[in-house]
Amino acid sequence: MNRIKVHDKWFKLYLTNKQIESAIEKVAQEINNDMANGEKPMILSVLTGSFMFMSSLVQKLSFTCDINFIKVSSYNGTQSTGNIKQVMGLIKPVKDRKVIIVEDIVDTGNTIEELEKILANEGAKEVKVCTMMFKPASYSKDIPIDYHAMSIPNDFIVGYGLDYDEEGRQYKDIYVLDPDQQEK
Ligand code: 5GP
Ligand code: MG
Repeated sequence: MNRIKVHDKWFKLYLTNKQIESAIEKVAQEINNDMANGEKPMILSVLTGSFMFMSSLVQKLSFTCDINFIKVSSYNGTQSTGNIKQVMGLIKPVKDRKVIIVEDIVDTGNTIEELEKILANEGAKEVKVCTMMFKPASYSKDIPIDYHAMSIPNDFIVGYGLDYDEEGRQYKDIYVLDPDQQEK
């Protein structure tokens, strides 16, 4: 499909599933190379957006890990609000664990900042960040983004887990909001 409509907005094809999977393969190799022998980190998937990335990524990891989930919410429509709510807490303790946060997309960094605070409060030993998509032009925090599969300009995207008001997550490709095709 070259274009899709989600709610009231048109989006055009931006990244094919093949491009996404090959970027995930590369970032998984980077993580595999960095992992010390015998280290067993916890993978923390940030719901809901990261569920597809998470599933693809963990299948490519070569070390033992366990999986945890948390759900936070910051977006309203196509805008990040900066007001992060923890919608579902950590389902397992992170105390003394090395944690790799797996995010769908890092935009302003507000969510990552909040997650780092939560993990520090819960006693995590070390925290790394791995995001599928990174928007460097909009990122304003000092927290290092250790791993990113792809980086993009400040456009609004959907698909491969990412939603527009809870729809559009199921597409295997990624689509970008098309300013030329909106109904006036
Ligand atoms: P931040 O807190 O870094 O500004 O935003 C992070 C969260 O905002 C992401 O986890 C994601 O849920 C949402 N987000 C940021 N940019 C986009 C985008 O382009 N498309 C979609 N669908 N969600 C986004
Ligand atoms: Mg998210």
